[in-house]
Amino acid sequence: MAQHNGFCDPPTPPPPRGKVYLVGAGPGDPGLVTLRALACLRQAEVVLYDYLVNPAVLQHAPATAERIPLGHHPGANLSQEEICRRMVEAAQAGRVVVRLKGGDPSVFGRVTDEIAALQQAGIPFELVPGVTAATAAAAYTGIPLTHAGCSSAVALVTGQERHAKAGPALDYGALADFPGTVVVYMGVTSAPRWSQAMIQRGKPADTPVAIVRRCSWTDQRVYQCTLGTVAEEIARHGIRPPAVIIVGEVVRHAPPRWWFLELPLLGQRILITRPRHQAQDLADRLCALGAEVMYQPAIEIGPPADWGPVDRALERLGEYAWVVFSSANGVAYFLDRLMGRGGDVRRLAGVKLAAIGPGTAEALAHYHLRADLVPDEFRAESLAAALVPHAAGQRCLLIRASRGREVLAEQLAAAGAHVEQVVAYRSTDVSEASPEVSRALGDGRLNWITVTSSAIASALVRLFGDDLRRARLASISPVTSETLRRLGFPPAAEANPYTMEGLAAAIVGAGRAAQEAAPG
Ligand code: SAH
Repeated sequence: MAQHNGFCDPPTPPPPRGKVYLVGAGPGDPGLVTLRALACLRQAEVVLYDYLVNPAVLQHAPATAERIPLGHHPGANLSQEEICRRMVEAAQAGRVVVRLKGGDPSVFGRVTDEIAALQQAGIPFELVPGVTAATAAAAYTGIPLTHAGCSSAVALVTGQERHAKAGPALDYGALADFPGTVVVYMGVTSAPRWSQAMIQRGKPADTPVAIVRRCSWTDQRVYQCTLGTVAEEIARHGIRPPAVIIVGEVVRHAPPRWWFLELPLLGQRILITRPRHQAQDLADRLCALGAEVMYQPAIEIGPPADWGPVDRALERLGEYAWVVFSSANGVAYFLDRLMGRGGDVRRLAGVKLAAIGPGTAEALAHYHLRADLVPDEFRAESLAAALVPHAAGQRCLLIRASRGREVLAEQLAAAGAHVEQVVAYRSTDVSEASPEVSRALGDGRLNWITVTSSAIASALVRLFGDDLRRARLASISPVTSETLRRLGFPPAAEANPYTMEGLAAAIVGAGRAAQEAAPG
């Protein structure tokens, strides 16, 4: 019973205080974010992101985080005041807010307005730097920003200066005389003005210029011209923002060959359809080859409706001769349950372990377990064939999904094994596609869709229907390809080996084959 001690009631604790992270998301390539940015994203409850930010970066935020696109998105054009208001309100409600800005927040990022609003509201915040477009353009084109022979300084300049009453804020005379490289941001539509102004103040019209559009994205383009022709070049090619324009002798050092321009999947936009928590490995491989990835999980993985059968099997683990895993998810759910109930891997002492393929074997290795058997081919038939010689009279525990093929159980039973199956995780179809992905597919902006299981194949057909024909399908294995064909959507590439690495290689191979087949 509470006692009254003569003092006032203790004050109610203050509401939880949120925090805002103003984070640079880099210029486009989702690999160009800092570890600090990732750490912030992982704890985000609200993410507000600019239109220049690659949405693939948002993959690092929890699925439950609220994602708010700002500006240049259909139906999303928030004013600066509204952005500040939203940030402040979310933080005051005790939420962790990540404000993702393209490139570096301090370079033409209007970050001072947002900092002022946060300071005024007394909200704690942090600034996380990012890779700005100028340095990314240098790395992804090979044009150095400084050069011992011809450029000892760099100026980052805006092409959209605000015209104050006192006249233009930029001193074009100083820029014309600047002894180094000038990088113009936001200078596409204003190119006639700033290029002429520099020439009039004495900058030679034949100064070399490179226009670098969407640097570090899979559709990056570089156009070379001169200060005198830059406006004409932009008009002739219909170049749209975003682009940085590099003005200076350094442009002459643009190499004829460059690593980024030679990546085999450059120009390819690829959809990853694996469940969220398994998507990153494939995404990283494809990005490293130059592709841009989008995410649309086709299925979701969760705990089984009833843990009873798994728990009973865990009680009697030592009685099984074999425990057979048909997926990495099965490994994770089964072993996490074992650990969660106070056990550890010693309970598997003396039990032989089989894995359907290298990914499943790798999942076992995370628990310091080595698979005794992995078939040469990653499919249920091959796993059954490899197990059959060991199976007669033995008790085999198959760890499976809520849906899946029966072939393994049937073949082992036919070989005289005592087969028990337990459902260790539930696999359900995602019922609605993200509008962004549907639009990209409908507009023909997706080149490939990766299909990494038969369940995903069926779910994709339900999600997108005939629109699935607007992209090429890359299948993980012959079994998945067969499912796709049966559904009326034959794949254009098939992995071999049936791994994520094999899938990426198959997409590269299909591109090469198409190039070789092209006339001329
Ligand atoms: N804070 C950003 C700049 C924002 S201003 C940064 O540090 O990069 C917006 C301008 O940035 C665009 O008009 C364009 O000039 C430049 N920009 C941003 N991303 C770019 C990209 N991927 N390629 C070329 N220019 C880019």
